[in-house]
Amino acid sequence: MKRRKFLNQTASSLALLMLPISRSALSDSQQRAGDPQRHPAPRNNSKIKQRDSDALITLFLCGDVMTGRAIDQILPYPGNPEIFESYLKDARMYVELAERTTGPIAKPVSFDYIWGDALAEFERFSPDLRIINLETSITRSNDVWQGKGINYRMNPRNIPCLTAAGIDGCTLANNHVLDWGFAGLEETLTTLEQANLKFAGAGREVEQARAPAVFTLPGKRRVLLFSYGHISSGVPYNWQATETQAGINVLYDLSVDTLNQVRRQIAPMRRDNDVVIASMHWGSNWGYRIPTEQKRFARGLIDQAGIDIVHGHSSHHPKGIEIYHNRPIIYGCGDFLNDYEGISGHEEYRGDLGLMYFITIDARSGELTRFELVPTQIRNFRVNRASAGDAQWLADMLDWQGRELQTRVQMNADGVLQLFSA
Ligand SMILES: [Zn+2]
Repeated sequence: MKRRKFLNQTASSLALLMLPISRSALSDSQQRAGDPQRHPAPRNNSKIKQRDSDALITLFLCGDVMTGRAIDQILPYPGNPEIFESYLKDARMYVELAERTTGPIAKPVSFDYIWGDALAEFERFSPDLRIINLETSITRSNDVWQGKGINYRMNPRNIPCLTAAGIDGCTLANNHVLDWGFAGLEETLTTLEQANLKFAGAGREVEQARAPAVFTLPGKRRVLLFSYGHISSGVPYNWQATETQAGINVLYDLSVDTLNQVRRQIAPMRRDNDVVIASMHWGSNWGYRIPTEQKRFARGLIDQAGIDIVHGHSSHHPKGIEIYHNRPIIYGCGDFLNDYEGISGHEEYRGDLGLMYFITIDARSGELTRFELVPTQIRNFRVNRASAGDAQWLADMLDWQGRELQTRVQMNADGVLQLFSA
């Protein structure tokens, strides 16, 4: 149980309470060289970078990246804009609505435009892996999935918009990857393979859909990424891959039986010392409430299936984060990039704000050592650093949501949030 130890041992003073997660896992010399509490993000120091690369694994995670529909229409190779929604029939209308709200976009944009300020944060944090939930199909298929109402596709020729940001892998077990039929899914998988982008959660048959994306980090451990789509996120029942049909890795419920099934499926695929991520597309789009069954399932993944990080998404806004047995549970990352700028409703949740999740793990012990969040805002179909006021809003929200989950956040001088066990 050593690797399961809590970092949140009783804090007897506020000072102790506010110690960063990283502190107890850093050696004395590391603490002397760069106290992460008082010296935010000293990562442009090459010595620190070198030390990090020897001992620590830093993962970048985020929520939905929706490069289809209107985002596809501003990229260099816009695909067929036809959509079959009840009000809008042309994806370009979403561009127009956004421009009316936040100003003109100089189209076509470059492939890396959509990542905006995130590119500098990637440079600064130097994550070993960059993982996203890709919430669109990548296809020219016109075989719209009937009865769904909202169907996302990006032209395969726009795939450089993902490689331009150095994305390493994506999760596909979500409610949009099959929006343009089986032909659309096949083209999505082929396009990702040709671009050397690893994926999990969808496949040509069930074995591939259940298999993890496997990343071998030079001189370090392997990272395994499993992806599941729970029906509460709007995944249609019949999207489950079978032995003879392509599809995704669906979870029909979050019961003890399902947890046992997941545990049995993961066990033969993992080796000792692997870092294992379970990526869950689950829950509704709006609201802070975290269903009890999600909490039970996430904690069960950590306790029984040996999962190191639970990466939850589907909510359009960030939700509370838990550190359970020193393993992070993100219940809802929030959208990272979407085309909702011109659409009103649910303003109280600030769906325009998002977070970059940088999770650092000790490569030897698997312990969580640092959890940092960079507040972002989607504007002009681009990821921007959030203003100081908006970053504070996110910090307050996470603190408020963290009361129940025993986590707190502290904002550094540069606006980066650090998550702590309270
Ligand atoms: Zn979704």
